[in-house]
Amino acid sequence: MFYSNVENFKSATGYEIDGIWYPRVTSIVSIKAKPALYKFYADQANFAGAEAIKNKSAEEGTILHETVEAILKNEQPAIPDSVAPAVTAFLDFKKQNEIIPHQIETRVVSKKHHYAGTMDCLAELNGQLGVLDIKTSYAIYRDYGIQTSAYVEALRENPSMPPLKRWILRLDQSRHCIRGCGSKMREKGGNIKIRPAKGVAASKCPHVWGELIGEVELRELPDIEKDTKAFLACKDLWIWENEYWLKQIFRSK
Ligand SMILES: [Zn+2]
Repeated sequence: MFYSNVENFKSATGYEIDGIWYPRVTSIVSIKAKPALYKFYADQANFAGAEAIKNKSAEEGTILHETVEAILKNEQPAIPDSVAPAVTAFLDFKKQNEIIPHQIETRVVSKKHHYAGTMDCLAELNGQLGVLDIKTSYAIYRDYGIQTSAYVEALRENPSMPPLKRWILRLDQSRHCIRGCGSKMREKGGNIKIRPAKGVAASKCPHVWGELIGEVELRELPDIEKDTKAFLACKDLWIWENEYWLKQIFRSK
């Protein structure tokens, strides 16, 4: 990663809170290698094209994310057509589950470990309090455990905070093959990805894609201690990687 100067580094990788600069959870977590990303890049025509897809896809994810958070805040947001199936699936989920948001898009700070982050939501879900992280990805990846453990670890520094659960709420939308082979197709950032159903029938099927259908997946993440340990290991590595800039930030203090 290239930073032009220390101010650029500070704003790109952290937050200034009450005059103190803290590295950001998502920046720290990004230090971990993501092998699946190599495959994505290799599958594209060229690097610039891959970057364009990745950015467009992130933008689409942001629209869905913002719409859902606005709904959680009891606002009545306009629902963009592009994400309407996923939002509808979320509204169904909200009807079937009791969800009481306490904090949305809130900055959390660990003074003990010196980092900060913005968590999506601290909520009561069916009577249990926890950190709810909204993802708009293809699957629920293990890396999400590292990110969410950082929020819980920071919240735990408040002595009156009760024990917290962690959940990933994954929202997505895809088209199903109407010939009934069980395959799904999803388009993100203009990139078409087909997830074939297992079996010979699916590989031979001349798929015909139906309407976009929204999907919701809720998963509770176990093993917080393991994830917290992995997060703090990421943080150590992140500090090593950024030593040049961190020395400039903390030298003067
Ligand atoms: Zn098919």
